[in-house]
Amino acid sequence: MTRFRRSALAAVSLSLLVSACATSPTGRNQIMLVSDAQVAAMGEEAFAQLKQENAVSRDQSLTRYVNCVSAALLAGSGGGQNWEVVLFDDASVNAFALPGGKIGVFTGLLNVAENQHQLATVVGHEIAHVTARHSAARVSNQLATQMGVSVVAQTTGMDPGLISMGADLLLALPYSRADETEADLLGLDYMAQAGFDPRQSVALWQNMERASGGGPPQFLSTHPAPQARIRDLERRMPAVIAMFDAAQAQGRRPQCAP
Ligand SMILES: [Zn+2]
Repeated sequence: MTRFRRSALAAVSLSLLVSACATSPTGRNQIMLVSDAQVAAMGEEAFAQLKQENAVSRDQSLTRYVNCVSAALLAGSGGGQNWEVVLFDDASVNAFALPGGKIGVFTGLLNVAENQHQLATVVGHEIAHVTARHSAARVSNQLATQMGVSVVAQTTGMDPGLISMGADLLLALPYSRADETEADLLGLDYMAQAGFDPRQSVALWQNMERASGGGPPQFLSTHPAPQARIRDLERRMPAVIAMFDAAQAQGRRPQCAP
């Protein structure tokens, strides 16, 4: 290989890295080696897998309730409208969202989230993980580690092997602590913009802590300690209460109930 060709190649791979670098909503840099379309396909595959392996709730009233809260949040989050929301019949106190517009809520969460505002706290947090591209970033990083940066960057389109590897990673990889803090703050914005009372977020995390009695519920075991997150939320509260008041004044007053 000539010197010229080698430097041209280096330039190409550098430009791939630069174009793959995105900035999260609060200004953190993220390296993205997979396209939004690829990550969406990974999320869709992971969600289909979850629906196959887990019982979907047949309770229509609870399903409507979860859809009502999700729809109100999505209208204010810029996350788009065509999301699929599924209530899983599972006692875990948990919820999740996946790229490709997928939200899953476990019925166990509805025993801890006492009203629409508290449910919106958790669902808003999960939507924020997707809109801030946390899932895309962790899949991108892991694929790069396993396959090499250049292989991932060159695997364009819907390569079935890449999509199914990514789907598995989406379900397996935990978020970082920085992801969690960002999702908390963004989620708080989303709930306030949708007309849910952000003050109820504090009550929700307190309920979570209380519910953890014999051992942390799943949601807490992968998330920051309640005291730390409540302190962060309270610092942000005056700004989001202003957003909430504005949303209410504009007629955004969701009335979701089981
Ligand atoms: Zn989270």
